[in-house]
Amino acid sequence: MLEEKPIPWILFLEKYPAGKIYPVKDVIEIDGPFFNVSTPDIRIYCDHKSCNAEHYFKYSGLKLPVNIGKTGDYILKYTCSNCGVSERIIKIHLQINSLFGTNKAMKY
Ligand SMILES: [Zn+2]
Repeated sequence: MLEEKPIPWILFLEKYPAGKIYPVKDVIEIDGPFFNVSTPDIRIYCDHKSCNAEHYFKYSGLKLPVNIGKTGDYILKYTCSNCGVSERIIKIHLQINSLFGTNKAMKY
């Protein structure tokens, strides 16, 4: 079987549907001695009446520490940077095997 090419984390967050496991890269953000789930700005559709278009959403939740070699469920909360009202919750099941390599993620 061919190895699937890993998907950049930001693209996974923006575009990939729930219910399937994908190989992902750039998942982890290093913050001093801590390893967290990376939470870049994402560009997605905002349905608020003052937006009604694609806008950048900024991460508005707490930092999410990861443990290498473990799996975990994470809830990522994003807020639209244009209206400041719309929130998007992205739930992710994450299998961290490698700090800088390919990991596995699934939205649920
Ligand atoms: Zn908005």
